[in-house]
Amino acid sequence: MRIDDILRKKRTLSFEVFPPKKGGEEKAELIKTIEKLRNLRADFISVTYGAGGSNARDATEISGCIKAMGIEPLAHITGGPSTPADIDRVAGELKKLGVENVLALRGDRPADFAEDYCKHFAHATDLLTYLGDSFCLGAACYPEGHTECETLRDDIVNLKKKQDRGAKFLITQIFYDNSYYYRLCHEAERMGVTVPIIPGVMPLISAKNISRIKSMCGSAIPLDFRNMIETYSSNPLVMREIGINYSVYQIIDLIAKGAPGIHLYIMNRADTAIEICGRLENVFHELF
Ligand code: FAD
Repeated sequence: MRIDDILRKKRTLSFEVFPPKKGGEEKAELIKTIEKLRNLRADFISVTYGAGGSNARDATEISGCIKAMGIEPLAHITGGPSTPADIDRVAGELKKLGVENVLALRGDRPADFAEDYCKHFAHATDLLTYLGDSFCLGAACYPEGHTECETLRDDIVNLKKKQDRGAKFLITQIFYDNSYYYRLCHEAERMGVTVPIIPGVMPLISAKNISRIKSMCGSAIPLDFRNMIETYSSNPLVMREIGINYSVYQIIDLIAKGAPGIHLYIMNRADTAIEICGRLENVFHELF
């Protein structure tokens, strides 16, 4: 089923997984995770894709498994340095597997990329145009602005282009201060973005992830949350509790203020998803 059709009827609950680097045991483990996510009544599960298509085969295979298990997959595709023929190959495979939804991305560029690195797909907008109406298309957005953009306003101008080129929904980068999400929704609406903006939430359950998150996507960590993490950074059990509770708090606030869905970045950990959804059982029952 198309995600835009689901969003017209209800709020969505979705999860992101990534294809394991090694097949075999790790893949079997991921399939078990997906089964558990199905029990949480996931509306869709998104599958990441290596920048430049490095893991295209594994990513496509996982999307196919999700579809075969009766859940809607959202296959990410990064344009970046790919050629149109590369994109045709992946899109054709996904079509054969019955995948209806694609998140069209550019992908991160290496620090020392050559001028013609993204010759065909310089931006997600190029991939959206290329894929046309062959899938229900979504795209990424950034509550704190994309790191390459000087101002949030410039980034939202480009976001509007994503909608104009066919994006039917948007999923945000992770954020830990909900006010950035509300500001993005407000400014985007003012500039003509009308498609649903689904907030992406990632439980921060380990202290070592803070610097990773900062360097990966520049998300700010609110001071009170940072203080809790720093106080308990050497106690993994307490850290986990803090991270899960913080996500639960973020989600309740997002739902209360009308977010069209919740997308959980769970790093392939079903236990995290189960714990968060368990604590929100009544909220979800009421609203989804
Ligand atoms: P773009 O939309 O091209 O944006 C990049 C920059 O260019 C921004 O500053 C934007 O404002 C600007 N821009 C956009 N369009 C135009 C235009 N037409 N003209 C001029 N400037 C423009 N990475 C992966 O490698 N694999 C994944 O599976 C993956 N999944 C992701 C899922 C989500 C929900 C998010 C938020 C990110 C994901 N990423 C993934 C990371 C993403 O690839 C990077 O953030 C990348 O740097 C930008 O991708 P984009 O699609 O937003 O690019």
